[in-house]
Amino acid sequence: MGKLRGFLEYEREQETTIAVDKRLKDYKEFTKELNPQALSNQGARCMDCGIPFCHSGCPLGNLIPDFNDAVYKNNWQKAIHILHSTNNFPEFTGRLCPAPCESACVLGIIQPPVSIELIEKYIVERGFKEGWIKANPPKKRSGKTVAVIGSGPSGLAAAQQLNRAGHMVTVFERDKKVGGLLRYGIPDFKLEKSVIDRRISILEQEGIEFKTGVHVGVNYKVEDLHDFDAVVLCGGATKRRGLPIPGTDAKGVVQAMEFLKRNNQVVDGQAESSADLNAKGKDVIVIGGGDTGSDCVGTSNRHGAKSVTNFEIMPMPPQYRSEENPWPYWPFTLKTSSSHEEGVERNWSILTKEFVKDAQGNLKAIKTVEVKWVKIPGERPQLQEVDGTEKEWPCDLALLALGFTGPEETLSEQLGLHTDQRSNIKASNNYQTNIPHIFAAGDMRRGQSLIVWAISEGREAAYHVDHYLMGASSLPTKEKGDLPAA
Ligand SMILES: Cc1cc2nc3c(=O)[nH]c(=O)nc-3n(C[C@H](O)[C@H](O)[C@H](O)COP(=O)(O)OP(=O)(O)OC[C@H]3O[C@@H](n4cnc5c(N)ncnc54)[C@H](O)[C@@H]3O)c2cc1C
Ligand code: SF4
Repeated sequence: MGKLRGFLEYEREQETTIAVDKRLKDYKEFTKELNPQALSNQGARCMDCGIPFCHSGCPLGNLIPDFNDAVYKNNWQKAIHILHSTNNFPEFTGRLCPAPCESACVLGIIQPPVSIELIEKYIVERGFKEGWIKANPPKKRSGKTVAVIGSGPSGLAAAQQLNRAGHMVTVFERDKKVGGLLRYGIPDFKLEKSVIDRRISILEQEGIEFKTGVHVGVNYKVEDLHDFDAVVLCGGATKRRGLPIPGTDAKGVVQAMEFLKRNNQVVDGQAESSADLNAKGKDVIVIGGGDTGSDCVGTSNRHGAKSVTNFEIMPMPPQYRSEENPWPYWPFTLKTSSSHEEGVERNWSILTKEFVKDAQGNLKAIKTVEVKWVKIPGERPQLQEVDGTEKEWPCDLALLALGFTGPEETLSEQLGLHTDQRSNIKASNNYQTNIPHIFAAGDMRRGQSLIVWAISEGREAAYHVDHYLMGASSLPTKEKGDLPAA
């Protein structure tokens, strides 16, 4: 795989980016293209390690050494064929995946790992550019119908796989456009929405029907779902965590997803900008780290915020792996996103105590205290406030990026489905709920997670739905990989 001793010859390379002052002027993606030779060299770094831990690091089981080798040999058409055999949408993961594969790369023990995510992105982009990625409708139809509820990455993956198996698939989406959090959560500077549209157009040509503006359980009766032979619930985990402290009703305390969704709608021309969801000229404090918090930072800077500050309740992670966190596990180290690089003051071990309002009820400041996490043997670490560290921060816009507590209950309640204590829909290993023809996948089943997991769950669920409908399935699964005909 790759080039013998290639990792000694070539250093890890990543895309360079447009300067911060330039890229903050719009919402476009801002990486600069690498040339094919540079990519081939990156593929050459894959070192035939024998047991490619990257495979198991990737929730999709992507065949990484195989596509690295194809890229090294400049056989891009073979590379896209290999990549598509396990991943329906490499253009999403190639841009947005936190790349647990790279943390598990064997080369990573002694050198920076192979740039797997980058290679993935370039393979799929080359595939689109060359016109190799085309609609491939099924040759035969099964006569069965499947409803997919939700058009995020899990719903899209389930829909494409089930359509490939010959079933007639209808995707119901309550929003105006298809894509779930790819469309309405993640900003354009991380994923331009034309990238979603390009793929949706292929899915439509393959025969999948998309019904948008249909909120199942609200403007579409759940009873009507029983007209379908099977149903896959892919509604995500969109219940937002609040911050029940004094002053939380102040004007200017806003949920991150409200802020991000509005911005995505404005960029797409679907909505007007509104002053209360715009950071221009404001002291912005983003409460909560993670992807959502980072996206709020990047968006606030593009709005022209006066200052952007981030609070995180956890201590600052270490720069390097600790002894308790060895390779090939996911490294709990400090992550600095491109949005962080664009300007933010990051504060760790900070507890938000109160939102301070003015006489009109507008947010004017946030009171905090520093905390420490005390380790008690045999117990979970406990939070302790540090005396004398109380502080008040001027703030006109506080963005709550505190994660999601689980799926909304509309579907599970109306359909009579079992859920766990986090309202995730309970489904067996076969993704089947307590109602045999109803399946669940993605964040709706596993709780808020990652795009790569959503695609993986959509694919696996599709296999089990097909098996349920037909008594057998030739769709691939992670265990039973299958390369479709080139
Ligand atoms: C701001 C933000 C940034 C993120 N950034 C990243 C990142 O960089 N990398 C990464 O890997 N992950 C990221 N994530 C997580 C990732 O987006 C999710 O894990 C992934 O989108 C889950 O996919 P899904 O298909 O399960 O659900 P979703 O993407 O949430 O899609 C669910 C869809 O179902 C629809 N729906 C729900 N109920 C109904 C109903 N009753 N009727 C009709 N439609 C319904 C919703 O409108 C939505 O479109 C991010 C999440 C957020 C919030
Ligand atoms: S999908 Fe994510 S984990 Fe899998 S190979 Fe691509 S970047 Fe790595």
